[in-house]
Formats: sequence, structure tokens, C-alpha cells
Amino acid sequence: MTEPQSGYRDVDVVIVGAGLSGLTAAYRLAQQGISVLVLEAGDRVGGRTVNVDVGRGAVTDGGGQWIGALHTRMYALIKELGLSTFRTYTEGDSIYLQHGKRRSYQGTIPPLGPLALLAFAQAQFRLERMAKQVPVAAPWTAKKADSWDSTTLGHWLDANCLVDEARHLFTTCFTMMYAEDPHRISLLKVLHQIATSGGITFMANTRDGAQDSRVIGGMHLVSTTLANKLGDRVILDSPVTEIQQSDDEVLVRSARAAVRCQRVIVAMTPADAGRIRVTPELPVRRTALQRAWHNGTETKVFAVYDKPFWRKQGFNGSALTDLPIAHFVVDNSPADGSVGVLLVFVGTAGAGPGFTWTDDVLNDQAARHAAFVRDLVTLFGPEAANPVEVVEKSWVDEPWINGCVGTRAPGILTGYTDAATVPVGRLHWAGTEAAPEFESYLEGAVRAAERAAAEVRVALSDPVHSKTDHR
Ligand SMILES: Cc1cc2nc3c(=O)[nH]c(=O)nc-3n(C[C@H](O)[C@H](O)[C@H](O)COP(=O)(O)OP(=O)(O)OC[C@H]3O[C@@H](n4cnc5c(N)ncnc54)[C@H](O)[C@@H]3O)c2cc1C
Repeated sequence: MTEPQSGYRDVDVVIVGAGLSGLTAAYRLAQQGISVLVLEAGDRVGGRTVNVDVGRGAVTDGGGQWIGALHTRMYALIKELGLSTFRTYTEGDSIYLQHGKRRSYQGTIPPLGPLALLAFAQAQFRLERMAKQVPVAAPWTAKKADSWDSTTLGHWLDANCLVDEARHLFTTCFTMMYAEDPHRISLLKVLHQIATSGGITFMANTRDGAQDSRVIGGMHLVSTTLANKLGDRVILDSPVTEIQQSDDEVLVRSARAAVRCQRVIVAMTPADAGRIRVTPELPVRRTALQRAWHNGTETKVFAVYDKPFWRKQGFNGSALTDLPIAHFVVDNSPADGSVGVLLVFVGTAGAGPGFTWTDDVLNDQAARHAAFVRDLVTLFGPEAANPVEVVEKSWVDEPWINGCVGTRAPGILTGYTDAATVPVGRLHWAGTEAAPEFESYLEGAVRAAERAAAEVRVALSDPVHSKTDHR
């Protein structure tokens, strides 16, 4: 029993982190008449979603942006908030450029040679078949869990996908998804992701796949709309430093508020959660997970043009290449096409050759912008030479957010099993990394939030559950 504390504000539930997940959890609980307070470390809501100004009143997405048909909780939330989506521009041809040879194609699979096509299809078939052997709720119990979690997707591809061009396409695809070299990504983790995120075709596709649509006005609008509904129940610039649990209550201390509550939802990556001091101390497995966790680092670089000029040339703005900077290009223009935006993703560290900035451009922004524009001229001709501006959104230097999408290092799934999700006493875990399905996606952030909110609702309505179990 904690001594009565003075100077504490009382609410039922504190939510730590005002990313999409924390805000969704708070909103769902508030809808049930439960009193909530959201404490956010940064000076804005939205976490890994943010709008980037591209001039003339238009914005593009600097963080998480795409959703697809299987992301049902995201579509439901967007509709509930009165927002709308638009489809990623796919009319016209995509470009495939390798070894100086430039070809146009339509659909998802670039014009590989027949042997490479066969090797690609075989590798996809085998990965999907192996994914079926991974139990969705407990991947660490798969028969081959230890062996699959001690090797990487990259090593599996090296041994099983022997045609260079096919292996290169897989590498491109998964590096794009994870901002990490497949040789650093656990095979078990990838198989689990395939099993829980709609399969490789859905994950990789734009039209009818996970990259099908964006929110008109930017994905960040989802978070700002939620925050507006919560009003003064969201406090910014207030990093939580300490959470103290007892049998009857939880005390939460942050820069701008001290709060007494019944339950806490921590909605962020395990690495970010690791900065908060928790007493009594967390179970060893959870602490170890927080220490082992890291997120991939990625930067989005946008070339902004007066108009999406490539559309008139019959291109959809999408390109897969072996150029130095623009290896994967997409049209990221706003819904009305009032401004043209071409986007490239660059892994700033550890994403492997062809994806990581080389030393000559790493610390020289002007040089890499010039190199990016040179690549775009190679792809789309002289009209690409004079963008209105080149803008970057880096996920390396966010003060409170550990990179973009979560680690897939070997050993995490089998070593830490359910530590990302299982509540510890009055402490519940949200954030996309705690998602039952679509982990790392926006959809995962919402599903984890709704799962944590449901746990809390049950606990608050059941005095037996509301007794603390510190494990
Ligand atoms: C470049 C990029 C591209 C992406 N593309 C896509 C995509 O196209 N589709 C897709 O589905 N997903 C995409 N994602 C992933 C998606 O953005 C995330 O899954 C989602 O936004 C995660 O939301 P979250 O609320 O779980 O975590 P976060 O957004 O990280 O929110 C956590 C919040 O907690 C706060 N916080 C941290 N420490 C503290 C503390 N001590 N006290 C208080 N607050 C704290 C942080 O400031 C942050 O606001 C992308 C991500 C990035 C970065």
C-alpha cells in the first residue's frame, strides 16, 4: 500500500506516448467513460507519422503513410474520424533500371529474365509455406523456431534463391520494408510477419496491397484529429520518467504532470520504454527485451516539382533501380496532384550496399540532394532537373523515437517470447511493436491499442483482475 501522495492528479488510466497507438487507446477508453490522461514527451502528437510541408499549402507524409484493404482497423478508424483516403498513383508505367538498361513495366513484378522469375516465384512459395508452420500467437513455439531464429532471411536467400536478379529483388523488397539489410533480419521474424501481415504479395503490392492508399491531408491527420477529440487530456513536452506500481494504484511522474491512476498503457517501442524507470523492477525478460531492441534508421527524401510531370509522360513515378540514391522511387504527390512529389527511401545505417548513404554524401546534404536529382534525371529526363526544392525527413535524430520500424535481429522472438505484450501488474503495452498482427504497421499500432484498451477495461471492471501481479 502506497502512502497517500499529495500534488497528484487522479485519473483512471495514464497513457504514455501520443503516437497513433497511444492516442487510439486513450480515445477508445474515453469512449467508454473511463478517465484518461495522455503524456507525450515531444512537442507534437503523431510519433512516427508527421506531415512535411511541400509548399502551396500542400503536404506529403514524412513517416508512416500507406494502408491497404487488410488494414481493417485503420480504415474503420479513419472513417470514424470523418477522414478520407486516396489511392496511390499507379496509372502508367513503372521503371526498372539495372546495369544501365532502362525498361518500363506494369504491375508489381519488374521485367526479370525467365530464370529469375522462376527463382523468385519458387522462393516466395517456399517462404509462404514455411510461414504457415509458424503459430501466429506464439512464433517461438514453431518446430523449427530455434534454427529459423538463429539465421537470417539474407542467408536463407543466399542458399535458396540462386539467381542473382531474383535475390536482388527480394533484397530490395525486404530492405524497403524494414530499412535493414536482410542479413540482419531473423528468418523466423520474417516468416511470422508473412503469416500475420497478409502474405508477401499483399505486403509488397501497391494496388490492392499494403501500399494501396493514403489519407487525404496526410496520415498525421489521424493523430491530430484524435488529439483534438481528447483536448486537454493530452499533455505535450512531458516525458514520463518514472512509473511506480503498488497493490492499489500507479504513480506516474513526468516533466509536466504527476498522476495517480489505476492502470498505465505504455505506447511506444520497447527501446523507448526502456528509458522509463519502473518500480518494482520489470521482469528480467522485459528489461532484456528493451535493452536488445533497436529500430531501423531511415530517411525519406522528397523532390518537389510544380506538377507531377512524369504522369504526362505515361509514368506513374515508381522506379526500381541500381542507381546510387534513387533505388526505389515513388510518386508521393498529394491527392489532388497540385504539387508533384517524388520520394526515395534511404537507409542511413545498416541497410546494406545500395541502400545506405555512402560516405561522400552521408554528411553532405547538398551533395546527396544533387545526386538524388541526377538519378531522377536519368529516370524521368531533363524535366526532373529543376525541382522547386528537395526536402528530407530523417528518423535518425528524433529525440524520443527510436528509428522507424522495429528490429528483426535473430534471437529476439525465441529469447524474449511474449515480453513485448504481456502486462506487468498494472502496466500494459501498446505501440505497434506490441501488435498481435501487422506489427510495425500503422494497423499494428491501432490493433495493439485496442488490445491494451480492452485489457484495461476488463481489469477496471473486475476487482480481482485489478489486484497487482508483478510476476
Ligand atoms: C519513415 C517511416 C515510414 C513508414 N511507413 C509506413 C507505412 O507506409 N505504412 C505503415 O503501416 N507503417 C509505416 N511506418 C510505421 C508506422 O509509422 C508506425 O508503425 C506507427 O506510426 C507507430 O505508432 P506508435 O504509436 O506505435 O509509435 P510511435 O509513433 O513511435 O509513438 C510513440 C510516442 O511515444 C512518445 N514517447 C517516447 N518516450 C516517451 C516518454 N518517456 N514519455 C512520453 N512519451 C514518450 C514518442 O515521442 C512518440 O510520440 C513507417 C514509419 C516510418 C518512420
